[in-house]
Amino acid sequence: MIVKYGVVDRPRLCPILVNGEWHKVHNVETSPVYNPSTGEVIAFTPMCTAADVNGVVEAAAAAFTAWWETPPVERARVLFRFKTLLEDNFEEVVHCNTREHGKTLSESRGDVRRGIEMVEFACGIPSLLVGDTIENIARGIDCDTIRQPLGVCVGITPFNFPAMAPLWMYPVALACGNTFVLKPSEKVPLTAMMIARLLQQAGLPRGVFNIVNGGRECVEALLAHAKVNAVSFVGSTAVARYIFETGTRHGKRVQANGSAKNFVVIMPDAEMKHATLGITESAFGCAGERCMASSTAVVVGSASKDAIPSLAHAATSIQVGPTDREPQPDMGPLITREHRDRVAQLIGAGAAEGAKVLADGRALQRNTGGFFLGATILDEVQSDMTVAHQEIFGPVLNVMRADDLESAIETINRSPYGNGASIFTRSGKAAREFKHRVKAGMVGINIGVPASMAWFPFSGWGASFFGDLHMQGREGVQFFTQQKVTTSRWFAEGEGNVWSTK
Ligand code: NAD
Repeated sequence: MIVKYGVVDRPRLCPILVNGEWHKVHNVETSPVYNPSTGEVIAFTPMCTAADVNGVVEAAAAAFTAWWETPPVERARVLFRFKTLLEDNFEEVVHCNTREHGKTLSESRGDVRRGIEMVEFACGIPSLLVGDTIENIARGIDCDTIRQPLGVCVGITPFNFPAMAPLWMYPVALACGNTFVLKPSEKVPLTAMMIARLLQQAGLPRGVFNIVNGGRECVEALLAHAKVNAVSFVGSTAVARYIFETGTRHGKRVQANGSAKNFVVIMPDAEMKHATLGITESAFGCAGERCMASSTAVVVGSASKDAIPSLAHAATSIQVGPTDREPQPDMGPLITREHRDRVAQLIGAGAAEGAKVLADGRALQRNTGGFFLGATILDEVQSDMTVAHQEIFGPVLNVMRADDLESAIETINRSPYGNGASIFTRSGKAAREFKHRVKAGMVGINIGVPASMAWFPFSGWGASFFGDLHMQGREGVQFFTQQKVTTSRWFAEGEGNVWSTK
């Protein structure tokens, strides 16, 4: 929903950050930011135009050379101070995150903590940038590699991790010597702004980190801008594919994370208590609005006898309510009313196509005005049903049945996505077989959310990722740098003919 600036009561218009200063953007359309627990509009995001984008990118481009020339050790010191400020202001950031996103405070703590881990990883940049050398690669000739920054890098992020998703990108980009323009989700710009203020306090020079707000027009201008060198994106597959194709056509380096449909296999020998807990936390944590949520449980053989009733019992026990107050519920609201209604419609489509609704979250009512939906389980889901192939991105767990591990893996490998896949089993042999054959970039063994941590790549496959180098870990450093190989030979003063082979 886009609301013309000035037409409705405006609690707060988010500024943009250009060259170290916060500016209000006037005379543009705006998009509301909600408190999903109450439905109240708490801010407006300006939908910046190409002209606004140009100013921000020019600021980042102007700051580049001085930042690149700053020794990596000094760049790391800014990040160490940033990390301390994030720790000191942890609860304030967490509350801001919960207020605009709706996840519980405990889930917000996880969101911010994961982000801080990215800063911790980036603090090691002097070691991460160490290159290779071979002396005498040929007689009297040495060869070495160095990694240099790309220039202006852009980050475009989704609503579901207001703290972590931007922090997947810019701590490493900045540590490598790039300057950065962040375009946060128009649904959750406030946490990104709060964290940016801490980065300023940490002593980052003006123009090195900038924020522009907006939607499609703003993104198109970023993708086409001649002074943008690289684009990192996290969001839905349709947009990820568009960002990758358009960005690369304009000559940018692009990494684009997309949607997901993650499977979790329950083997008959699984430790059922751990499996139930791991799967319900994975499916319903953050109200299912996670790209690593288990959205489909594939129950193998006799596992269905215990697993399905215990999953249904766990789902119906989940307390749902507003997260902006105490006591905290187990699960909060969805991001917007439209999204809540879309998820409810998908549940209806599943039921109409023959799925059995074991736990139905649609009936849930809360009188706070928020966007609530209860935990839902759809059993007997078949591969051709809408709910089996569309990403639902809500608190809905599909249950499918398989005769054996072989057919469970076949079901999973038919999915076009490939973010995460997990197995619950006591058998090392089954776990090894699963790890070897499943088509997913992140695998969990007795783990519900196999999201890799900062030191390893966030390694989506298939339609869950477009590009060559993932975010996080050494691949992140490779993405934000380009390698230079120098081959050198030195002559003594007055040494004879350089063309001589002797
Ligand atoms: P989204 O694709 O709607 O939006 C993501 C970003 O793209 C936002 O900043 C938005 O303003 C921008 N955008 C939206 N439409 C655009 C368009 N037509 N042109 C240009 N820019 C556009 O995603 P979302 O709803 O914010 O987030 C949820 C999605 O993100 C889910 O599909 C989820 O699986 C995915 N996600 C993936 C990962 C991962 O690592 N694979 C992580 C988190 C979320």
